[in-house]
Amino acid sequence: MFNSKRSILVSDDGLRRVAHSIVAMAGSEVAEAKIVGDHLVDANLSGHDSHGVGMLPTYIDHVRAGLLKPNTAVKFISDQAAIMVFDGGRGYGQRVASEAMAAAIRRCRDTGLTLLTLRHAHHIGRVASYAEQAVAAGMLSILFVNVTDHPPWVAPFGAKQPRFNTNPLCIAMPGTDTTPPLLLDMATSQVAWGKARVAFNEKKKLPQGSLIDANGRASTDPRILFEEPLGALCPSGGYKGSGLALMIELMAGVLTGGGTIQPGNPRMNGIINNVFGFVIDPQRLVDERWLGREIDALVSYVKNATPADRHGLVLLAGEPERVCRAQRLEQGIPIDAASWREIVSAAERVGLRRGDLKRMMETESVP
Ligand code: NAD
Repeated sequence: MFNSKRSILVSDDGLRRVAHSIVAMAGSEVAEAKIVGDHLVDANLSGHDSHGVGMLPTYIDHVRAGLLKPNTAVKFISDQAAIMVFDGGRGYGQRVASEAMAAAIRRCRDTGLTLLTLRHAHHIGRVASYAEQAVAAGMLSILFVNVTDHPPWVAPFGAKQPRFNTNPLCIAMPGTDTTPPLLLDMATSQVAWGKARVAFNEKKKLPQGSLIDANGRASTDPRILFEEPLGALCPSGGYKGSGLALMIELMAGVLTGGGTIQPGNPRMNGIINNVFGFVIDPQRLVDERWLGREIDALVSYVKNATPADRHGLVLLAGEPERVCRAQRLEQGIPIDAASWREIVSAAERVGLRRGDLKRMMETESVP
């Protein structure tokens, strides 16, 4: 079953057990292993396999190379009322970012607005997960994240060579009794790098406009990101995404103190995320009931636009992930064979055996 060339279909519970065990065997305390494993499986459930359990082999390599430091709590560096400055100390991003966000939410109850900065977190994964913490507390959040510690992958608009990474941004607004939360969570590259990795593993092409080759020509072949001569990812939305990526470098790279992708900063072939974000209590701004009615009315107006494609749907930010989660909770999470082989090999590197993984999971081959 585990040598299958095809995808395997795994239950979320089974996959959580596997992820918890791998992270714990790599040195994390149980609570931390649970935070990291739950986050990764939740990314798979949301349809973002690029930020799911497929990251575990990279995390294990980084732990072993000293680029990711297990059991590191977020450090509160400077407290200036509504401004909170944190350092992640190369700890698991899922842990330090969720701790920083929890503190910013608590503070926001008093201040109505919190500016939080977090520097030197290891990969924080799916950014929406932190916005979901704020949404659960009835708060809006705006998060900008830069990505350093390895060479850039994204070419600025009009360039042949990469100068940015996929610098994501996430804007989330709580929903109402009838409208689910609105969650825009996107890389500023046309496709996230992890999606190119998954496409490479699955030997699939990427959509037009995703990539350029080493000569600056448009390409759809993800191999150009993994085999010399290397190409680059394209910014999302042409010069607009390129401009956003630059501004995110300036906010998340410079204003957090974490550093930008410029080559004078160290690149140790790890992954560092720096976060510049706001948490806002909407009730400090407008009447709660009016806010709810206005959200419902706007969402219904947008959703009722006639689809351009007769069989298409008009979706809102956050909707594809919700639909995917419901589907995968019921049907299971597909993991491609190449990613699964890498996960098994990572598990073996931390002392688990194939048999252990089999026992933790109940899998079925995809027909
Ligand atoms: P994506 O392109 O799949 O989706 C981007 C946004 O568009 C989402 O909010 C989604 O709900 C919305 N969307 C998707 N299809 C839609 C449709 N048909 N109609 C309306 N809205 C739609 O996401 P992405 O840019 O590939 O990013 C994937 C994940 O990667 C995100 O969770 C992001 O946080 C994460 N990421 C993390 C890092 C990092 O360093 N930690 C870097 C880059 C990306």
